[in-house]
Amino acid sequence: MSLAKEPFRSLEKNPSHIMPKKLTMESNVQFRCHPGVSCFTACCSAIKIILTPYDILILCKRLGLEPHEFLHTYTAPTYLENTDMPGVMLKMREEDKKCPFVTPEGCTVYTDRPSACRYYPVGMADFHEASSKNNGGEEISGADEKFFFVVKEDYCKGHQEDKIWTVGEWRKDQGVDVRDEMNREWLRLIMRRKSHGRQANMSEQAKRMFFMASTDLHHFRRFIFESSFLKTYIVPDYLVEQIREDDIALMHFSFKYLAASLFGVQFDDLKIREEKIRAKVSEMKTEQDRSVLQAIRQYEDLKSDIDAMKPENKVAS
Ligand code: SF4
Ligand code: SF4
Repeated sequence: MSLAKEPFRSLEKNPSHIMPKKLTMESNVQFRCHPGVSCFTACCSAIKIILTPYDILILCKRLGLEPHEFLHTYTAPTYLENTDMPGVMLKMREEDKKCPFVTPEGCTVYTDRPSACRYYPVGMADFHEASSKNNGGEEISGADEKFFFVVKEDYCKGHQEDKIWTVGEWRKDQGVDVRDEMNREWLRLIMRRKSHGRQANMSEQAKRMFFMASTDLHHFRRFIFESSFLKTYIVPDYLVEQIREDDIALMHFSFKYLAASLFGVQFDDLKIREEKIRAKVSEMKTEQDRSVLQAIRQYEDLKSDIDAMKPENKVAS
């Protein structure tokens, strides 16, 4: 079973702050956050905020930085959702452990703040049960369950304000729907990894590719256009043109590429060229033949050593 629950903000330390009530889009939530609350910006320090590829893209544009500059200045490495998949989180300031974007007046990147900051304090849980087969071998797709919940931390006084919203109104106000859309496929990659479990090793090369594609679209674009990528994969011309210019299209394409290369998901607009598959199969066959020949040679060497040790073959001294 896969689970994504408040995936971008560290809550595991304080699960008791999650209210034990499942909410729907129509449920009411009493909450308001504004500069007049006594706790203003208290939630912006000593917190683990995971950045999604879309968060990084938008913050780089906002700050006028290349991804590598942004990553170096504002982030620290982490692993995503208890997997071995590498990602980044906001690096808190050393001197006061506060978010690098917070001032006494509030968030300096507010309109472009990360997904985690928008979801708080209404989290979303998304359970997806893996598909299984019944007795007749028929594929039964796994059940999905999605619900919302409120996170109530003692220091957060926003819950004492008198504003009441439905979950849907709150999410719209915070721009969460757009983030859901932008983050969905990336989150699905992490959920896939979680459901595969640690028994399936992810190679170092695969981890590097995941990290590069998820954090540095500038680098990923160079990988597409300056390597043999387009000689290896068939990508429709319209899509090639889109990803050449459009960062959002490139980001969605990177999710597709990662799903295909890490988990074997098939897409009509991203296919390995037949001749590349044939070349790979032939390379594997040559490698296999070489291993078989080596094994035969080892067996014959061993056999002749054993034969030489037999008493009838020993030369009398
Ligand atoms: S990005 Fe803005 S809202 Fe998010 S933790 Fe930092 S200061 Fe607070
Ligand atoms: S009300 Fe809650 S969300 Fe708003 S600043 Fe205070 S602690 Fe942060």
